[in-house]
Amino acid sequence: MTDFPRSLIEFQHRFADEAACARYLFAARWPEGFVCPGCGMTKAWELQTKPWTWECAGCGKQTSVTAGTIMHHSKLPLTTWFWAAYLMATHSNGISALQLQHQLGLGSYRSAWLLCGKLRRSMVAPGRAPLAGLVEVDETEIPCRGRHDPVTGGGGRSHQGKMLIVGAVEVADGGAGPGRIRLKEVPDYSAASLHPFIADNLAPGATAKTDGWSAYPGAPSVKHDPHVVGKMAAHVVLPWVHRIFSNLKVWALGVYHGLRRKHLQSYLDEFVFRFNRRRTRPAAFRSLLGIAAGHPPFSYNMLISPEAKA
Ligand SMILES: [Zn+2]
Repeated sequence: MTDFPRSLIEFQHRFADEAACARYLFAARWPEGFVCPGCGMTKAWELQTKPWTWECAGCGKQTSVTAGTIMHHSKLPLTTWFWAAYLMATHSNGISALQLQHQLGLGSYRSAWLLCGKLRRSMVAPGRAPLAGLVEVDETEIPCRGRHDPVTGGGGRSHQGKMLIVGAVEVADGGAGPGRIRLKEVPDYSAASLHPFIADNLAPGATAKTDGWSAYPGAPSVKHDPHVVGKMAAHVVLPWVHRIFSNLKVWALGVYHGLRRKHLQSYLDEFVFRFNRRRTRPAAFRSLLGIAAGHPPFSYNMLISPEAKA
């Protein structure tokens, strides 16, 4: 699983057809050979009538190599799924449904959009480990693009609404760099909105470093380290969360030409996924397909692996 293709050419050779993709899935799922998820028996026959499906010699259960992954029951070829996940995982800024449609030669924008949506849903691993240690927490606002706004140049329009976001960043290496991040859309900056975010995303005992906004104190089970500052100095006190916010805004404009309110959280999830896996692209590829290695049997429990934790 470590020999991940390092280039488009390598990828094309490695996953040239359906059989190659199926072999990869088989190896990810059953590194020691087939094991029936029903009874645990290892003897099975590959069915001739259903693609990439094995029938257990013991209990007769039929198991597809795609069972439990986002590819299951899909009409799209495995090669299309693999390419889509590869492009999403390796493009440094991400790829839009429109780009995916063109690059993969998909028949319709709708199927590209659905493909993107399914891959995006893999981006939030259930049971991912909460942020720990010293964590910068702050809020920001981002303009939303309305249905009738032009794709570019929509800035400054008076009817444009604002979307509110709360973010958290682990301060890693004694302040030398950012660790993992989390972002969430919130309706307002009240304690009722901010405390659940902290409870869901910061480990018990973590320290929340904030700008001293009155809604933060009292969040359960975390220490609070308020730094009351004027607006101008917030980026000095909370440098990493501010850098994340500004990267987010550049990314939103560059890749998506602004974000729509309806899909905001899924865009935030994509940004977080991409950031947290910026140095582990092969793991990102496997996470997107729902085949994080070495935890058979395939299920959503399987996503709770080192590469899915971020
Ligand atoms: Zn069985």
